[in-house]
Amino acid sequence: MKINKNYLKLKKNYLFTTITQKVQDFKASNPQREVISLGIGDVTLPLAPVVVDALRHAVDEMGHASTFRGYGDEQGYPFLRRAVCGYYAGKGVTLDDSEIFISDGANSDLGNILDLFADDNTVLIPDPVYPVYVDANIMAGREIIYMDGNAGNGFLPLPDKKADIIYLCSPNNPTGATYSRAQLKMWVDFAMENDALILFDSAYEAFVQDDALPTSIYQIENAKECAIEISSFSKMAGFTGTRCGYTVVPNALVRDGAALNPLWYRRQTTKFNGAPYIIQRGAGAVFTPEGFSQVKANIAYYMKNAKFISDTLHGLGIWHTGGENAPYVWLKCPKGMGSWDFFDVLLGEANVVGAPGVGFGAKGEGFFRLSAFAEHEKVSKAMEKVKKFL
Ligand code: PLP
Repeated sequence: MKINKNYLKLKKNYLFTTITQKVQDFKASNPQREVISLGIGDVTLPLAPVVVDALRHAVDEMGHASTFRGYGDEQGYPFLRRAVCGYYAGKGVTLDDSEIFISDGANSDLGNILDLFADDNTVLIPDPVYPVYVDANIMAGREIIYMDGNAGNGFLPLPDKKADIIYLCSPNNPTGATYSRAQLKMWVDFAMENDALILFDSAYEAFVQDDALPTSIYQIENAKECAIEISSFSKMAGFTGTRCGYTVVPNALVRDGAALNPLWYRRQTTKFNGAPYIIQRGAGAVFTPEGFSQVKANIAYYMKNAKFISDTLHGLGIWHTGGENAPYVWLKCPKGMGSWDFFDVLLGEANVVGAPGVGFGAKGEGFFRLSAFAEHEKVSKAMEKVKKFL
């Protein structure tokens, strides 16, 4: 037998292991110092009470013969698909239940969706970027073309290189930068002209504060004919450990003579037996009026942190993006420092942990990500220390 040799081409993902190791070493030699982590982008607030109630109720249902559920619809329970459609209706986007596929989180579908496409398609991926897009395509042996993010384009690259598949992430991880409607329209027009397909990652859409900014690619005309949207309850509702997301494959989306929606349906019914009923009930509760207000309160909590970080950097005259419509602030390392050098200095001097930009791609060198997923007190303490040291 032969293995998929493409796996051997994957670069080791050192970013978070190296961060953890460096922090452990620092703590071991400086036990008296309090280290504050704004590094790993995982949520810190617990699930909303209404979600916990729905989960509990669903657990009880599973314990009684009359309400027990076995296998569900592979594409998700109708109650949750309808609720997702309702959420999109609130954004002015009309979707049919058949276009929604409930998943166990965005990560799975960001990679799995590639099952539908030939391996000799080229892929356009922003640099820096959430690493899953790159690795999933390396695994399939696809040619990757990078588009450069930089301070000049605000880390929002626009179309200038052709490819068959285009990954976009807005609001972006790691940069927190968010495309405007006019910019997303450029991408949609480009995909339509070039028969390309956009994979739009909207995992952070719920963090957008500016009503003028798009929270779904389908708010752009013609996007249903050229884009798949992949989203998640992870950051929106604290589901990183609970696991639920959704993917939208519009019925109007046709490539190479085939409608993609039935292909994805076929793929999911073959390789995925659906997200757990209990979890889907928890996710459904997010879309109730109570759920919305509880989840929004958590988002507001994180965005207060983001603003605080951004205001502090502004006061220090440090170039940065993000933080206004995303829980990440992306800053230029002071004094021309490299990403890891700045990491070491920040940890050593201010005892604050962030994520070196170069860990998200070569174009991230010299930049640094601070996450707003933390307690207020810790963020303000961290910023006080940063102010003293910078
Ligand atoms: N997409 C982006 C841009 C992310 O930052 C993350 C998680 O950090 C994900 C997708 C993964 O989301 P999930 O937890 O739903 O798999």
